[in-house]
Amino acid sequence: MATTIRNIVILTGAGISAESGIDTFRAGANGGPSLWEQHRVEDVATPEAFARDPDLVHRFYDMRRAAIQTKRPNPAHVALARLDAEWPGSLLIVTQNVDDLHERAGAPLGHNQRLLHMHGEHLKAWCTSCDIRSPWRKELSSRPPCPVCGARGLRPDVVWFGEMPYRMGDIYAALREADLFVSIGTSGAVYPAAGFVQNAVELGVHTLELNLEESQGSRMFHETRLGVASEVVPTWVDEILGRD
Ligand SMILES: [Zn+2]
Repeated sequence: MATTIRNIVILTGAGISAESGIDTFRAGANGGPSLWEQHRVEDVATPEAFARDPDLVHRFYDMRRAAIQTKRPNPAHVALARLDAEWPGSLLIVTQNVDDLHERAGAPLGHNQRLLHMHGEHLKAWCTSCDIRSPWRKELSSRPPCPVCGARGLRPDVVWFGEMPYRMGDIYAALREADLFVSIGTSGAVYPAAGFVQNAVELGVHTLELNLEESQGSRMFHETRLGVASEVVPTWVDEILGRD
């Protein structure tokens, strides 16, 4: 590992939310398709599905939005919030998760600013009329008016299959300045982790994977630590905060 680490980029994925009881549906267990009410999730979480059957898509996201509000952050979220509060260098936590568990873990510390939701957020609604995103905790299936412009064109502020993730330029800019890239709870073999780790290695950034099990992408990282996120993440955070 590099002798001096100041700038860190962290990517978090489904594995960190899974321990809080959130089924992310992004990839089916055992390689099979994820199903919801007999629909493949890939057939619900798309712009085409929303155009074809907005009621179905709204019902799916209304259910997800309600569910995450009953879940709690786990020790992995709490450890990363502590890192955010205490790390003196630059830090960017990029999450693929659309829940708010990173924010809630950081709230008691008053510090959860260095976070980027590349796939959007369940607790925001995006107005397709005025393009403004508003905090949102209730349902959208009744077509409530946009709190800003009054139009009834709100959609979930979640990046669907076939849409561009948010703020990729900011993520790659942070990677260029990074001394360490850490991937947590997401397969290193698939996009976006695979792209980030490849980019980081090319830039000479040290790379660390914290994951439940080894994946095909593990060989791309300089170092891999296996275990549940609620254990390996707090251990790593203790270690890096204890440096110097
Ligand atoms: Zn609006």
